Formats: sequence, structure tokens, C-alpha cells
Amino acid sequence: MKLYILDNGWMECDENWIVCLNSYKTKTNREATSRWIKIPVYCVLIDIGNEKILFDTGQNPNEYDRSIRCPYYYREEQLLINQLKSLHLEPTDIDKVILSHFHDDHCGNMDIFKSAEFYIAQDEYDYVKEALDNHQKPKGAYKYAHLNIEKIHLVKEDIKIHDHIQLINLPGHSKGLLGMIVHLEKEGTLLFPSDAVDTHLNYGPPAMPQYSQYNLEKYYESIEKIRNLQERLNAKIIFSHDMEQFMTLKKAPDYYE
Ligand SMILES: [Zn+2]
Repeated sequence: MKLYILDNGWMECDENWIVCLNSYKTKTNREATSRWIKIPVYCVLIDIGNEKILFDTGQNPNEYDRSIRCPYYYREEQLLINQLKSLHLEPTDIDKVILSHFHDDHCGNMDIFKSAEFYIAQDEYDYVKEALDNHQKPKGAYKYAHLNIEKIHLVKEDIKIHDHIQLINLPGHSKGLLGMIVHLEKEGTLLFPSDAVDTHLNYGPPAMPQYSQYNLEKYYESIEKIRNLQERLNAKIIFSHDMEQFMTLKKAPDYYE
């Protein structure tokens, strides 16, 4: 089993969006300024020989929905389609796609995987469906949440989709959110919490909030669930938008096994 990190470019934003009030002025530091930071966008590909599983589909390069607050940048080779190509894969080679949630930097390219089975948290799907059915915009970055998926598994309870791969429910950042735990022979256990934990600063302890969550109480509960799992499984957490950590990760075509 091989696990590839597919680099899909980066976004830039004020750090306070990621870690709420990480920088602010005080009586003794009236000149404090906030930081403009780069945050990675990436997908995870697991190759189990006869099966290819993709966790998240990255940002859609054709539109910049959050261009002022959080612009997206990429080099040609970082496009998801080109990342797959570098591994000699086409979208039709992907058997399963797990969407951690429906925000645009995670589901942006979902439409190119026509033949894959999709996995998404039931609560997330229902929330977006209800909003779209009522012609409302769901709260958050939902531009590419397309629901015309042919083969879809709506995930209610934490489930195993393979002997060594588990999907876990981590709601809070969005209405429903799936993280992924992968047990690798050499590397050990990796836990991908997606935006349930953006960076090591959000993870703490103490856990720190993002600027906005769908449900703050559930956000904290999910972080404690991750902490318990990390301890129990001796897992390494791979944060979703932590450039400091991302720089240290192996990227495709290199892989973990
Ligand atoms: Zn994100």
C-alpha cells in the first residue's frame, strides 16, 4: 500500500482566519500586526494495487471564489489532473473518492471523477441538499458542492472502507466532516483530520478556534476525539492547512508505505 500527498497549490490569507485572534494589539504591544500566510491545498492518494482511493479533490483552478480574503495560487504541475498524470493515472483510474466536506478547496475537482464511488458525511450532504433545494447558499465555502453524484455512500457512523483505512466523523468546522485514518506498514498510523484541525496551532493543546465554524462546540469535541485517537493508535496527525508541516512531508511521486 502506497500513500501519496498530491500538492494542489496554496491559498494565502490573514492568519487570523485560520487561528482566530492569533495576533492582536494589546496595551503593551499596540503595534502588533497580523500575518499574511500561505496555506497548502493537497489531496491524498492511496494505491492498494488493484484499487485507487482519493481523499479530497483540491481547489478548482477556474474560479477564485475567495479571491480577496483567501486567493488561490498554483503552478501548472500542481493541478490535480497533472499530479495524477505524474503517477501515470487518469481520473477514470480512481475507484473511490472521499470528500472530507463540501468546501471548495476540498471538493473543487469532484466533477472530473465520473466513474468513482463517493463517500461523504450524511450530515454534510443533507445540509447542502436542503439549502440548494430551497435555493439558498449554504453557510461557508460551498461553491463546488455538486450533488449529481451517481454512486454515493452517505457516512453516518465511523466506518472501515478497507482493512487499513477508516473514515471518522469530525463535525464542527462544517456540518458534517470526514477524517481518515490509514495504517501503513512502515510509516505507522497517519490521521488526516481535514479542516477539523487546520494547523498545529489549532490543535494545541489548548485547542484554538478557527475564525468561523459551523458549530464551535462540536469543533472542540472533534479535536478531543482526534487527541484520543492519536494517543490510542500512536498516530501522526497530518494537518490540512499547515505550511510548516507540509514543507516536511514527502510529496508525489515520492510516497509513504
Ligand atoms: Zn480547507
